[in-house]
Amino acid sequence: MNEIEIQGYEDLLVRNGLKRTGARLQVLDVLSHRDSATSQPYLENVIGKDIDRVTLYRILKTFEEKGIIHRVLDKQGTANYAICSNSCTAHHHHDEHVHFNCNNCLRVYCLDNVKIPTLKIEQGFKIEDMNLIVSGICKECNEAN
Ligand SMILES: [Zn+2]
Ligand SMILES: [Zn+2]
Ligand SMILES: [Zn+2]
Repeated sequence: MNEIEIQGYEDLLVRNGLKRTGARLQVLDVLSHRDSATSQPYLENVIGKDIDRVTLYRILKTFEEKGIIHRVLDKQGTANYAICSNSCTAHHHHDEHVHFNCNNCLRVYCLDNVKIPTLKIEQGFKIEDMNLIVSGICKECNEAN
């Protein structure tokens, strides 16, 4: 983590009324540097014994509630987390983009530029969130062949 990055993470925490802790900074750092969404087991692997499981779980939950990260379930039902766009706020996520689950490397990508089309649904129903997960072979796996 360099100075500028740490400053950015701290600003993000302060803006969301969260105290700066080493564990929170570490999680933000890992998530920010990945081009795909990140599962808790992956985080546990990278961060190692520095943060216990319960703490990590709570950090992810808090970040999700604050609109800092959003959760995507992959095809296996594993939760993956990705940094939100700036428009997300506490309890109001606006991550209506398509997610891509690679059948080969199993990674989940946010396709930020591919928006989920608006749906017309029956009267009386109110949409609160939508998920669209597309699966196939990701760019990296494709190029590796
Ligand atoms: Zn969000
Ligand atoms: Zn892949
Ligand atoms: Zn996403």
